[in-house]
Amino acid sequence: MKALAIDLGGSHATCAIVQDRAILASEVVPADAAENLSALLARAAQTFAQLGKKESLALRDCAGIAIGFPGLVSMRETRVVSTNAKYEDAPRLNLAQWGRETLGLPLRIENDARLALLGEAFAGAAQGFTDVIMMTLGTGIGGVAMIEGKLLRGKHSQAGCLGGHIPVLYTGRDCTCGGKGCAEAEASGWSLPLVFRDWPGGERSGLAKYPSIGFKELFAEADAGDEVAQKIRDRCLQIWCADAVGMVHAYDPEILLIGGGVMKRAADIVPVIQAHLNRYAWTPWGKVQVRPALLGNHAALLGAVPLLTETLSA
Ligand SMILES: [Zn+2]
Repeated sequence: MKALAIDLGGSHATCAIVQDRAILASEVVPADAAENLSALLARAAQTFAQLGKKESLALRDCAGIAIGFPGLVSMRETRVVSTNAKYEDAPRLNLAQWGRETLGLPLRIENDARLALLGEAFAGAAQGFTDVIMMTLGTGIGGVAMIEGKLLRGKHSQAGCLGGHIPVLYTGRDCTCGGKGCAEAEASGWSLPLVFRDWPGGERSGLAKYPSIGFKELFAEADAGDEVAQKIRDRCLQIWCADAVGMVHAYDPEILLIGGGVMKRAADIVPVIQAHLNRYAWTPWGKVQVRPALLGNHAALLGAVPLLTETLSA
């Protein structure tokens, strides 16, 4: 089965034509989350037309369009429920109508982290498992769950997709979601510069020389022996560990997948979280296996076929 897929991020959107477990063609479209989604979708439609032409693929042969969106999404109602300073017009758009009228295809939309987990279950590290949680460590923290082979969605479409907003520190910093001390507010790409800013002695750290600090700089400075970087890195690891235990206790998985840009350092992250779960998670049946996600930026795109073929119960 062929399908069109759009993975929306804060700074770019990836448009792809996929066939089952393979990506036939893809192109990254620059995006600005502050702009309107309607303008971006118009560019996506042009990109699909160009990709189809270049690869001699007829778009009408595709089964539909699948969109991964960074916010709360009702897959059943094909709409964005709530967005967090990204693509503010999205909740007002009739996406199904856009798909029909612009590309002549049915459309489904899902939270981007859920779609990535669907991709990993279909074609990646979670193949063969029915009970899986996934954490994506990036600008934010994605935390999603599949139970008994089904993505957890819930009455208000927000079950099992807010793993990054599990509070890990009740005295912690304010989060973009309106909460306090969420894992994401304490150890994600967006909060890392704030954590560093408030760290005692930060001005003497090697991290102070960077105009912007990400996990790449944090791990590099920690490797070089910088004490502040080592302490902040270890604090991030502990926060991810606490978040992982929270998700394991909530969702009863067999495996925990971890993805996101920081997993270039998987060898420093996976064993720490595995050891923490082995010691602190209450799982009398055995041990949750911690594994790196396999599909990287392709995960949500490869979720397209299972999303479009999913049968919705009445
Ligand atoms: Zn939050």
